[in-house]
Amino acid sequence: MADAFDAIIIGTGQAGPPLAKRFAEAGMRVAIAERHLFGGTCVNTGCIPTKTMVASAYAAHMVRRAADFGVVAGEAVRVDMARVKARKDAISERSRLGVERTLRSLTNCSVYQGAARFQSPREVRVGSTVLRSERIFINVGARASIAPMPGLDGVPYLTNSSMMNLDVVPAHLLIVGGSYVGLEFGQMFRRFGSQVTIVEKSPQLVSREDEDISNAIRGILTDEGIDVRLNAHCIDVGGSGDSISVHFQSDNETQSVSGSHLLVAIGRRPNTDDLGLDDAGIRHDERGYIVVDDKLLTNVSGIWALGDCNGRGGFTHTSYNDFEIVASNLLDNKPRSLADRIGAYALYIDPPLGRAGLTEQEARRRGRPILVGKRPMTRIARAIEKGETKGLMKIVVDAESEEILGASVLGTGGDEVIHGILDMMYARAPYPVLRRAMHIHPTVSELIPTILGELVAV
Ligand SMILES: Cc1cc2nc3c(=O)[nH]c(=O)nc-3n(C[C@H](O)[C@H](O)[C@H](O)COP(=O)(O)OP(=O)(O)OC[C@H]3O[C@@H](n4cnc5c(N)ncnc54)[C@H](O)[C@@H]3O)c2cc1C
Repeated sequence: MADAFDAIIIGTGQAGPPLAKRFAEAGMRVAIAERHLFGGTCVNTGCIPTKTMVASAYAAHMVRRAADFGVVAGEAVRVDMARVKARKDAISERSRLGVERTLRSLTNCSVYQGAARFQSPREVRVGSTVLRSERIFINVGARASIAPMPGLDGVPYLTNSSMMNLDVVPAHLLIVGGSYVGLEFGQMFRRFGSQVTIVEKSPQLVSREDEDISNAIRGILTDEGIDVRLNAHCIDVGGSGDSISVHFQSDNETQSVSGSHLLVAIGRRPNTDDLGLDDAGIRHDERGYIVVDDKLLTNVSGIWALGDCNGRGGFTHTSYNDFEIVASNLLDNKPRSLADRIGAYALYIDPPLGRAGLTEQEARRRGRPILVGKRPMTRIARAIEKGETKGLMKIVVDAESEEILGASVLGTGGDEVIHGILDMMYARAPYPVLRRAMHIHPTVSELIPTILGELVAV
């Protein structure tokens, strides 16, 4: 006999818990299953712990730079990794316990601890219990992708998850993968005191970004002493004693780097391989991402997929936005759709990159005339006053419709500044509205109207 519910939710990432709360508060009987840590990636091995560690790294960096500001600091900076980890653990734990406590305190909500697997389109098994519902919501997230690289199994490599257990500063951290995860860990550990080498197969770091932005990011990292190897195709990995070596092909020759620790940060893969998708007839692509429509519904009626596992987002805010879309459609009778979402994200190196909408190269590919405005942070008073002048701002506009197509703010406060532009994009306001806005001095944002007054056709 199966236990019957009005809704079953698999996974407690960024969409499942708020959805459980909304359903339970609407008087529905809800079952939610979690196989590992409540709160999922963001809370335990992603955003929250990494951003607390980025904050520690920033503190170390600023103490080293104290003299630039006329401040006399004490002895040479030393990072106590055990205390960095303890601070990170405490902040993550508070959030994890908060998610669990909220779910367990909900009237109408039953929490199951264990891996859930579809038995049929209406049945899910968790351990020895079978749950049944006409509505099932998948929020199983993703994990680090590990390429079948020769020799990798023979060395003690790290992923974003196992990095969380490090309580020493590695002597030399090798990182395979020059995208968001690799760069955030790379800069943070450089600031903690590690030697860091990043090996990336593409000709540029964070290859989805425009070349000027990517080059500026590379400059920020290399200025801090990070060794960046581009066009570097890994061949194999080996180890002896305390040393790990990565061999790669670059410039038609085989090269290698050796270090004490290896982080593999080459992308993510969805946690759908052991979910029994085929037993429920749920369509997925060749990488395992569940195919959904703009309302997050799968090909099977009554089954939705939210968050990283649907391949439509990849961020905490996109997963939470998936929840909002589903809740609005099912509970509030206010139609919402993925089609209304504008892409936005940040890269938390320091200074951070805030991104909204299209890159310049994506805008060019549309084949319509565009205008571009740019300004280096060296020409922004607030950045100069703060002594943080690395990076640049760029805004891309449709020359005919005057619509803002996208923006990149790589610089101090970039993760916050970008929202002024993102919100104008949601408001569908033509750029002259923002061009005429009076902003506060001295801020980085005050230069947004100025940049929009200096647009050039490209
Ligand atoms: C190092 C790193 C840094 C990041 N930094 C940021 C950032 O700064 N900003 C940002 O927006 N995003 C960031 N992300 C991405 C962000 O963490 C994810 O996009 C976010 O957590 C959304 O995840 P989700 O809701 O899809 O599911 P997840 O948070 O991944 O949760 C899925 C849950 O489902 C559970 N589960 C899986 N399979 C089953 C099963 N069969 N049965 C029961 N339970 C199951 C898992 O145990 C997990 O708890 C980062 C990611 C990483 C790796």
